[in-house]
Amino acid sequence: MKIVMLGAPGAGKGTQAKMIEKKYAIPHISTGDIFRANIKNGTELGKKAKSYMDAGQLVPDELTVDLLMDRIAKEDCANGYILDGFPRTINQAECLEEALSKKGEAIDYAIDVEVPDENIINRMGGRRACLNCGATYHVVHIPPKTEGICDKCGNELILRDDDKPETVGKRLDVYHAQTQPLIDFYTKKGVLKEVDGTKDMEDVFSTIVNILGE
Ligand code: ADP
Ligand code: AMP
Repeated sequence: MKIVMLGAPGAGKGTQAKMIEKKYAIPHISTGDIFRANIKNGTELGKKAKSYMDAGQLVPDELTVDLLMDRIAKEDCANGYILDGFPRTINQAECLEEALSKKGEAIDYAIDVEVPDENIINRMGGRRACLNCGATYHVVHIPPKTEGICDKCGNELILRDDDKPETVGKRLDVYHAQTQPLIDFYTKKGVLKEVDGTKDMEDVFSTIVNILGE
C-alpha cells in the first residue's frame, strides 16, 4: 500500500502517518525529518537545505527528488510506505509517478488532511518536536507527560525554527501556491480521499482506517 499524505503544514500529516505506520506496518517517510536529521548531523545536504527551510521556502527539487527515490528503493519499502511532505510540487509528483510506473506501480491513496489556515497558526505555535526520534506533540492538544521532554526517548522538545509565527505565514503561502494543486492532480488519478483534520487525532485516524480498510 503506497500512501501520500497531503495537507497544509501543521494539518496533522505526520501525526496520522505515525499511526498508519504502526497499524499497517509500512514505513513513514518524512522528507522534512530527513532534512532535519541532515541539519543535525551537519551534512552538506543539511547545510544546503537549512537556508530554504528557515525562510519557509521549499528545498529545490534537485535536492529532494533523488533523496526520496533512494529512500523508497530501500528494502523496508517493499510492501509500501506513507509519504509525508512529499510530493510538494507538481514536478515532484510527476517524478514519483514516472519512477513508479516504470515498475508497474502507482500511488494507491492520497489522503488530504483538511484544516483551515486559522487553525494551522495555533497548531504550529503549539507544536513541540523531538529532533532525536521525530515524535511531535502539541502543548495543549497532545501534551507530553512531562513538559518539554519526549515521552518516547526522553530527549528535550523544541519549537522548530520554521514554526515561529513569522515563518508560518510564508509556509502557508508556499503551500497554497505550490502544493495545493496536488489535490487536483490526485483527484484526476482517482486516488484522492479527503478527511476532516480539525477533529481529534483519534477520530481523524478512524476515518483513515475506514478508507484504508482494517
Ligand atoms: P504536519 O505533519 O502536517 O506538519 P503534525 O502532525 O506535526 O503536522 O501536527 C501539527 C501540530 O498539531 C502538532 O503539534 C500536533 O501535535 C498537532 N495535532 C496533530 N493532529 C491534531 C489534531 N487532530 N488535533 C489537534 N492537534 C493536532
Ligand atoms: P515538514 O517537516 O514536512 O513541515 O517540512 C519542513 C520543511 O522542509 C519545508 O518547509 C521545506 O522547506 C522542506 N521540505 C520538506 N519536504 C520537502 C519537499 N518534498 N520539497 C521541498 N521542500 C521540502
